[in-house]
Amino acid sequence: MARRCSVCGDEIHSKIYYGDPATLYSRRPLCELCYFESEPCCYVFFGEDKKPYHITPTRNETGRVFKVKLIGDDPNNCFYTAYSDEYLLVYGQTIHLNHPAEKWFTAFDSVLRQIFNMDRIKYARVFCRTVDINRQRYEVFVKDGSDFILAINDISLAINEADYRVRKQG
Ligand SMILES: [Zn+2]
Repeated sequence: MARRCSVCGDEIHSKIYYGDPATLYSRRPLCELCYFESEPCCYVFFGEDKKPYHITPTRNETGRVFKVKLIGDDPNNCFYTAYSDEYLLVYGQTIHLNHPAEKWFTAFDSVLRQIFNMDRIKYARVFCRTVDINRQRYEVFVKDGSDFILAINDISLAINEADYRVRKQG
């Protein structure tokens, strides 16, 4: 008897895929399309590594380092958020894409990375999907064992510097 895909419900006649650990469909049978094509809940960037690591409901390219959960009961106002046993959340905000505030965010993100690199803080940035395509959740994590106080302090510095740069541009 053919097994059915846990996402689309179709019978699977070719290779059966199983959801990655630390995903919504963990270990459940899936067809090839649903395994590979499910929409990412978030992208994780580790430090200066340019490669985005996707987490979808069926695949988790971070292994088990990061996981996501959906927050909010209101279907018009829910978003994914990341969590980890190896990294601590130090900053989170919602970015309004194609909005004047995006300028501030771009400055903040760039300054924060520079300061973290100077202070040799191991960090990861996570961009999470929200129900609204014009909004994204941005989260900054530092590796467990990092100087947490220094990281929090660096965030204040980056906020001030981003404020200054945006004001200067007018
Ligand atoms: Zn399917």
